[in-house]
Amino acid sequence: MKKSNKPSLFLLLLLPVFFLAACGSQSAATVDITERIEENPTITWGVKVDTNLFGLYDIKSGEIRGFDIAIAKAITEEITGDEANAEFVEVTSKTRIPLLKNGNIDAIIATMTITEERKEQVNFSDIYFDAGQALLVPNDSSIQSLEDLSADTTVLAVKGSTSAQNIRELSPDTNVLELENYSEAFTALQSGQGDAVTTDNAILLGIIADNPGYRLAGGNFTQEPYGIAINKGQDDFLIKVNEALNKLKSNGVYDEIYAKWIPEME
Ligand code: GLU
Repeated sequence: MKKSNKPSLFLLLLLPVFFLAACGSQSAATVDITERIEENPTITWGVKVDTNLFGLYDIKSGEIRGFDIAIAKAITEEITGDEANAEFVEVTSKTRIPLLKNGNIDAIIATMTITEERKEQVNFSDIYFDAGQALLVPNDSSIQSLEDLSADTTVLAVKGSTSAQNIRELSPDTNVLELENYSEAFTALQSGQGDAVTTDNAILLGIIADNPGYRLAGGNFTQEPYGIAINKGQDDFLIKVNEALNKLKSNGVYDEIYAKWIPEME
């Protein structure tokens, strides 16, 4: 059979589909959020839903609750006049930047550290929380600090987190097993697939709160300042988020939210 140079009917039929798909994702990511808010005041936040104290889905109430959620609601109230305009979409450490860049969410507020590497992809608000990386081990573990990690130990971390990167740099001999999220990482620790979970102290304290029998180890060996991530090109929205954050810090609402969710940390 002679090969034709003409595009097949099948491909021609598919073209509008590709075109529409491309328009859809592009417009969602590039439309000016502050202008859109004037017509539709909803702000869609990417949040964790398995992270006690920051963003945890509560089966009984059917709500997601935690520090990040409360801050997102308070910022939404400042910007739109009603916290009910906050909508939440689940992200993990690995999916949060792709979901933001695709336009599925307007902002990420999900235990996310501001780093130079991430700043190449997204913009960050001012710091809204200071964490530091630590280790979580069973109470009877012999691990007291980073020095106790070796080629014979396995540390559990989460894909796409700074914690996974940092532990490889700080303890190059230890084995690192990366899971999808923190509930999977802790389940792996409970079932003996690793000797420690590593991430931010505040996230680990949230795990301990529900699971006595585990303790922190290693002190805080990194600094993890959290920021709200927003797409590049959304400068007006970023300004509004920072203004709202400043207001919450000066009018006492931030302190109330902090006191409600964050336990004492060393
Ligand atoms: N704050 C760290 C990070 O942004 C660890 C917590 C997380 O995985 O979200 O990577």
